[in-house]
Amino acid sequence: MTAYPATDTQHVVPFIRAGLRRDFSLLLVEDNDHHSEMIRVRLERAADVPIQFEHVTTLADALDRLGSRHVDAVLLDLALSDSPIDQTLAAVQSAFPALPIIVLTSLDDHDFAAATVKQGAQDFLVKTELSGELLLRSVRYAVERKYAETALRQYAADLEHSNEDLKQFAHTVAHEVKNPLSVVSNCLQVLEFDAERLGDVGREMLNEAATAVRNMAQLVDELLGFASVEQRSKSHERVDVEAVFEQALRNVRREIAAAGGVVTSDPLPVVIGDDVQLRLVMQNLLSNALKYRAERRPEVHVSASRAGDQQVITVRDNGIGIPAEHRIHIFDMFYRVNDGREAATGTGIGLAFCRRIIEQHNGRLWVDSEAGRGSTFSFSLPAADEIRQ
Ligand code: ADP
Repeated sequence: MTAYPATDTQHVVPFIRAGLRRDFSLLLVEDNDHHSEMIRVRLERAADVPIQFEHVTTLADALDRLGSRHVDAVLLDLALSDSPIDQTLAAVQSAFPALPIIVLTSLDDHDFAAATVKQGAQDFLVKTELSGELLLRSVRYAVERKYAETALRQYAADLEHSNEDLKQFAHTVAHEVKNPLSVVSNCLQVLEFDAERLGDVGREMLNEAATAVRNMAQLVDELLGFASVEQRSKSHERVDVEAVFEQALRNVRREIAAAGGVVTSDPLPVVIGDDVQLRLVMQNLLSNALKYRAERRPEVHVSASRAGDQQVITVRDNGIGIPAEHRIHIFDMFYRVNDGREAATGTGIGLAFCRRIIEQHNGRLWVDSEAGRGSTFSFSLPAADEIRQ
């Protein structure tokens, strides 16, 4: 028997695409001959296109028939001589997951109807109330819905695959590039010992090469960090943002000292999330707040506010700010604002990474900024019920 693959959309040809008027084939699975004759006559009377109508009386015949030729939809009575009423739907579905199924019953039972639709039937019709028009409409609707559902499932599966492939790719490339890069870096260091012999042009080229290698090494490290955080399984537990902040602060203490900056905070809440990932977000934002400083002494303040069932954490700085035209792009991978400042080196990965983490926590990350005066990065996270005031 050939089964329909679970994500195969070929077998479900939507009517909307076919202009709603193509002929179609139906299989009726019904062990009462009187009912089946009634359904056939009503359908044929109402139909404005040819219908290929077939009728079988048992589950075994239905599965056999469905395995041998395409049908657009099945009208399925669940009470059959060779199948218990609570197993018929599942039996057809598991053999033909992409097939639109309309359940027929003699009961006008809403709970039962809801249960079959929940299990994946496209529709539920009461035999005694059946008109040909109602049946036709139901079949068309069932085919459309199943098509959309199957296409969506296929799309989600493709996306999942390509995301996995991409992560794996980034990880492999970063690893592969790391080794030759350290060889080049070592060679450059050896050359630097003998820099005197190189002359001005040679020394300049050596400097440029060393800077390029350093930038590339940073890029590779960040990519690897990105991929490894993506790949580790995330926890979903109560996280004290205050502890996250303290840890992030310790990790950027050298940058604070180098910039002569001051970082202050209000009491911070408890949220639901992954502490390692949230620490990386906090660290990235603090590090940027110091890196993109203005001429004045950098002042960074971290605070929190409650918004419904979310906590909003805010990192405010008095740095160079972000011109309006760049604001929506800074969260894109590799995007950097080119303001001609050589001092602030970077890769353009950090914020893309942060946004991804926050979105995976069902939160949002955004920025408010005034060029020349400073930036305020905010992110929302699900609040844990016990909130520290
Ligand atoms: P990187 O810092 O490596 O360039 P990010 O993704 O962290 O990458 O940031 C992207 C860009 O956004 C930066 O190049 C910078 O132009 C801008 N930016 C980020 N944070 C700030 C900030 N606090 N103040 C001003 N500009 C910022």
